Amino acid sequence: MGLCKLFPGEFSWTLASVARRGVAAFVLLSSSGFAAAQTSSNDSSTVLVKAGRLLDVKTGDYRIDQGILIVEERIKEVGPLSVIQSHAPKDVAIIDLTHFTVLPGLIDAHTHLLQNNYSRIGDEPNLLVTVTSMSTASRALLGAAMGRQDLEAGVTTVRDVGNSGLNGDVALRDAIEAGWVMGPRMVVTTRALAAPGGQFGSAERIPHELQNIIDQEYSIISTPDEARRAVKQAVYDGADCIKVITSHQISPEEMKAIVEEAHRSGKKVAAHAIDDVETRTAAEAGVDSVEHAYDIPDDVLKVMAQKHIFLVPTDGSEELWQRNVRPEFRERATPQELKDANDIARNVFGWRSQRLKRAIAAGVPIAAGSDVYVDHPGITRGVASVAVVRGYVESGMSTLEAIRTATLNAAQLLGWQDRVGALDSGKFADLIAVSGDPLKDISELERVQFVMKGGVVVKDTDSKRQLARPLTRQSWF
Ligand SMILES: [Zn+2]
Repeated sequence: MGLCKLFPGEFSWTLASVARRGVAAFVLLSSSGFAAAQTSSNDSSTVLVKAGRLLDVKTGDYRIDQGILIVEERIKEVGPLSVIQSHAPKDVAIIDLTHFTVLPGLIDAHTHLLQNNYSRIGDEPNLLVTVTSMSTASRALLGAAMGRQDLEAGVTTVRDVGNSGLNGDVALRDAIEAGWVMGPRMVVTTRALAAPGGQFGSAERIPHELQNIIDQEYSIISTPDEARRAVKQAVYDGADCIKVITSHQISPEEMKAIVEEAHRSGKKVAAHAIDDVETRTAAEAGVDSVEHAYDIPDDVLKVMAQKHIFLVPTDGSEELWQRNVRPEFRERATPQELKDANDIARNVFGWRSQRLKRAIAAGVPIAAGSDVYVDHPGITRGVASVAVVRGYVESGMSTLEAIRTATLNAAQLLGWQDRVGALDSGKFADLIAVSGDPLKDISELERVQFVMKGGVVVKDTDSKRQLARPLTRQSWF
């Protein structure tokens, strides 16, 4: 524990390796069937995936009859099946995806796994209820459930951007890395930096004595020096990336201090920003991504394109917005009321879609981010999140570009282009398979048939093909 405090950067490595050693020791000491199952699912060693069709996300081409040779958690070689097969050991385990289209695992660059709001009340009351009724420990367990739903939907990597209590995201990231729970690879931010009040909105009505409620969720800053200190604290707490809530109260000097201090520590900065003032403050300070940016003006988009600052458009899809119309309202509404509500949903999506079109025209790099933190009855967190990619296509993006936002581009934003985002040798064996043609119908991504993360099968709809222990389906609420 003391060592971890002294060397926070080493923490996840230490925790993961200790856990692995723990599993190995358990397998050696026990002769039970459970231990044997642990061995086979952890030591998959060499696997050959036969891909009927593989999407090369870089060129946009389909390659037919491909082989992917996987050794432990990484891809060793990809190429024509006959060639790869001749390089594989004779007893190699084979996963037959000859009737499927294989793609890299998806990346969601804007998640809140440790939050799942009730759709019946708004964001601010939800935040208060979450912080006052759930410990960070129980939020980390919620995050484990949400993370598993993401993984089963094909999201093998996320950048989780705050609203995680006091470093619950760090705990979840490390637990996943150690193999304690199944979930996506995580880049985490710890508490978001914010001006006094954070995102509670009605914070002026929270008595001063209860400031600690705000402090559990946000790292409050009101000077450039405090901004620097908050970045250092986040790095100490285990953040891989710094998140800042850019409100009108955040001054350009504070934002510059955040970016300078974060970059000095090798951390990227993700800035929540909505309007002209906020997006301008963020872009001019040189953040690495602007999240949401619903009301961003064209000249700020130009600055983003020049500085290669990513836009993370958390737009959802039109269908997702329709689903947001509250279920109890649907039951009681007249046909006219229902039409009005659906029109509002369509307008919200249409408004976001216009902004995305302007960003594409300006040449701004785009990474997919769902920002799903509300329960969507009837679908899992993962399926609701992947729908954002369909939303980009509904806004006029090509299907290939939309897939790139959730693979190549997002990997680049995370600084993980050497690990994830494409099916290349040396990268993690994170891949998904769909039945149809995602370049023709992007909604195929919402019906993922097979998911592998780090060489381990985590979902397979074909029970005969399963190599690893199947997961039972779970849902939250
Ligand atoms: Zn968000």
